[in-house]
Amino acid sequence: MKISIIGSGINGLFSAYYLQKQGHKVTVIDQSDGSDSCSHGNAGMIVPSHIIPLAAPGMIAKGLRWMLSSTSPFYIRPRLSGRLLKWGWLFYKNATAAHVEKSIPILRDISLLSKTLYQDFQREQYFDFGWHERGLLMLYQTPAMAHEEAEGAAIANKAGIEAHVLSQKEVQNLEPNTKVNVLGGVLYSGDAHLNPNLLIANLKKYLHTEGVEFLSKTEVLNFRVENQRVKSVVIQGGELELDEVVVAVGAWSGVLTEKLGLSLPLQGGKGYSMMFEGLGEKVNVPAIMLEARATATPMGNHLRCAGTMEIAGIDLSVNMNRVKGIVQGVNSFYPELYVKMPQPETVWRGLRPCSPDGLPYIGRVSHLKNVTIATGHGMMGLSLGPATGKLVSEIVEKAPLSMRIESLSPMRF
Ligand SMILES: Cc1cc2nc3c(=O)[nH]c(=O)nc-3n(C[C@H](O)[C@H](O)[C@H](O)COP(=O)(O)OP(=O)(O)OC[C@H]3O[C@@H](n4cnc5c(N)ncnc54)[C@H](O)[C@@H]3O)c2cc1C
Repeated sequence: MKISIIGSGINGLFSAYYLQKQGHKVTVIDQSDGSDSCSHGNAGMIVPSHIIPLAAPGMIAKGLRWMLSSTSPFYIRPRLSGRLLKWGWLFYKNATAAHVEKSIPILRDISLLSKTLYQDFQREQYFDFGWHERGLLMLYQTPAMAHEEAEGAAIANKAGIEAHVLSQKEVQNLEPNTKVNVLGGVLYSGDAHLNPNLLIANLKKYLHTEGVEFLSKTEVLNFRVENQRVKSVVIQGGELELDEVVVAVGAWSGVLTEKLGLSLPLQGGKGYSMMFEGLGEKVNVPAIMLEARATATPMGNHLRCAGTMEIAGIDLSVNMNRVKGIVQGVNSFYPELYVKMPQPETVWRGLRPCSPDGLPYIGRVSHLKNVTIATGHGMMGLSLGPATGKLVSEIVEKAPLSMRIESLSPMRF
């Protein structure tokens, strides 16, 4: 079949990987030059530990508190937008214990599937992507956060995800090269990390040599639909005919899928990252600094620090106050790193595609026979990329699915 994949982020590329392997003629289309999507500058963490969706009890109260400070890690820009109001209402409705309980096995299973696939790539050595299995540290400085994290660790252990509550000394023992200023932490020993820039660049190179075609700087503007099938995608100056189409356009998916008659609640969650040269050897285990909601990931000679969730539409501007919040967080948790404020032009920003219930959208559009959606992965898109690509290829092939995905349907709202 002739398959068009819209979006060359992690989900588009892994969909291309598995579909090409099935012998299809695959074209990946992206409006940008493909060098800077959300999939490039993220924190690089592969997180089977993240089994609790963003929509969870307590998140709304926490979010409202955070919104009062200009350096805080979370912000919703107030806007008169029907899409934002709908998204907010659905988030509110889903932030329940019952939703968390239902989501845990789904997030666990898709995450573990994805990690296994990454391990296969690592073994096969088709391309380098800076893979390391050192776990993930959730670090905290306050008794309130210690309590919350101990509860999270208990839930994870119950779900079969290994979590160890560590004292301050035990955390420090894991980090012999720099001081860690914490009350304690939780080590999720099954998590991993990689270098996303390397992964995307090398995966694209590999796909190219395998015959996948790339159309960059080509925005998909619309779709031509006949008899419940998308016949072609409309681009500037023409159309591209196809048998199947996969929509994997990240934070832009809500807008683009409207043209397919689909209402896909989705908001861009802007985050920032920066690379600090010479600090890659200082931090051994990737970490989330919980009170600061900032992350630290060693990538070769560099330490990548990331954070912030700003629900602000499709807006890629850099707010240096939020960046300051990340820098302050890093210096508070790792006081010997003496991280400096970066220049604005060196700060990377990306838009996480956030669904209102914290679960991705993977599946068919019910009123069209040849459209598959792969988006809405929020904070976990890098982690879930290989599993998403595999599931997409199974959906298109009408093959048995690697896991049940009813709860991930793009038709669920
Ligand atoms: C600061 C930060 C840290 C993060 N850390 C992690 C982490 O540690 N681990 C993890 O698992 N996840 C992490 N994430 C989340 C992860 O990066 C995203 O979930 C993931 O990259 C989304 O990938 P995607 O392929 O769905 O979308 P994208 O990477 O955004 O790709 C979508 C592509 O679609 C293209 N496009 C849009 N509209 C059109 C159109 N009309 N026509 C053609 N092309 C179009 C865009 O140009 C873009 O290239 C982080 C995100 C941020 C911001």
